[in-house]
Amino acid sequence: MKNSADAILKKYEVVIGLEVHAQLLTDTKIFCRCSTKFGSEPNTQTCQVCTGMPGVLPVANKKAIEYAIRTGLAMNCSIAPYSRFARKNYFYPDLPKGYQISQYELPLCEHGFVEIITDNEVRRIGITRIHLEEDAGKNIHEGRGDHSFVDLNRTGVPLMEIVSEPDIRSPKEAAGYMKKLRAIVRYLGVCDGNMEEGSLRCDANVSVRLFGRKEFGTRTELKNINSFKFVEKALEYEVKRQISIIEDGGTIIQETRLWDSAAGVTQSMRSKEEAHDYRYFPDPDLAPIVVGKDLMDSIRAALPELPDEKRKRFMDRYGLPDLDAELLTSEKAIADWFEEAVRAGGQAKTVSNWMMGDLMRIMNEENKSIEDISLKPAQMAGMLALIENGTISGKIAKTVFEEMCRTGKDAAVIVKEKGLVQISDTGEIEKAVDEILAKSPGEIARFRAGDEKLIGFFVGQVMKATKGKANPKLLNELLMKKLK
Ligand SMILES: [Zn+2]
Repeated sequence: MKNSADAILKKYEVVIGLEVHAQLLTDTKIFCRCSTKFGSEPNTQTCQVCTGMPGVLPVANKKAIEYAIRTGLAMNCSIAPYSRFARKNYFYPDLPKGYQISQYELPLCEHGFVEIITDNEVRRIGITRIHLEEDAGKNIHEGRGDHSFVDLNRTGVPLMEIVSEPDIRSPKEAAGYMKKLRAIVRYLGVCDGNMEEGSLRCDANVSVRLFGRKEFGTRTELKNINSFKFVEKALEYEVKRQISIIEDGGTIIQETRLWDSAAGVTQSMRSKEEAHDYRYFPDPDLAPIVVGKDLMDSIRAALPELPDEKRKRFMDRYGLPDLDAELLTSEKAIADWFEEAVRAGGQAKTVSNWMMGDLMRIMNEENKSIEDISLKPAQMAGMLALIENGTISGKIAKTVFEEMCRTGKDAAVIVKEKGLVQISDTGEIEKAVDEILAKSPGEIARFRAGDEKLIGFFVGQVMKATKGKANPKLLNELLMKKLK
């Protein structure tokens, strides 16, 4: 049953395009000087401009424009020397002007791309455009009886909309693309990338078509996807829903659907009229954006090393495999941590293994970022040196490492306090080996009869008896000698 379902899914090609809204990290709003600080009392960060009073004049925030250009350059876009803001007309209570200022026919950035790695293959996802716009406020309906309230603190907060080409071919790839965008905007310092708090939001256009078909299938738009986990889940659900409708002889309706994360389904929100009539027109109150060569050059010169460049450098300089390099460069702070541990004397691949394994597991379990972990890179290098010189075994190191992450103490201190020094005294290990062998005549006979896997049993028993402290190399040598 499952196989036939898989076979049906494999007949179809998935086509996904994402529209991502990223809230810019400016101190003030896009057309006035109100603060953008998150979480303040409702309507304490508003003025005549962002509440849409008649006769006021908006003035564009230069920083917001620079942040969008920085992002455009990082995503390989061409930057328009001349672009402008337009009015997108629609009424909503949280949009007091009756229109949203956005960019329409002349966006700031166009024709870019980002690279992602899925299943060991580098894929290039086209960026159609990046434009600037203002955010709307927030309507509050819950828990207010028969009243609704509106909070305009968010009105006019600068957003950057990043629109991809329909180049994404699977839900997994969509999640990979989102992660890459997040990494880039965080490296650039233009957005904090926090999906849970809404500073990175994603709408997805999804359709399916039989492999080999040129024309696109009818698409649906998914809204309300507010975590990385949900990007993949919502799209997987929607792809299966569309395929099963087509397989049953039905047709897909072009509509907007909401992802319901509690129920794990998408639900119809509204069917889409072919084109909304927003009556866009250039905003007469705002001057066009003219980007001179000097500004472009200075922004370009100040670009930091970006995730892809860093990944390639990590592979070249440290000889790391693709997967290690990709993971370690996903966050600048993680990449910096790695490089510091290597500078402190850690061997690159060993440091990477510990980071991708135990360190990231502990970060996940304790829900901490790398900055919050007590362990410092030099301490990791210190612990690796203790393994290297035979003071502790790799197995004991696992215990030491956990303790280091929890307490921030040096490995040498923990080893001393807990008496974890590895036993490298041949006599002492031999004694433990002899005791175990004396208790295991049956296993010895089977080993000698050819069941060589039993070596693991003997090692395990001696390790247990020595509380994991026996030097593994010496232990193996002794066992082999005595068992032969
Ligand atoms: Zn304001």
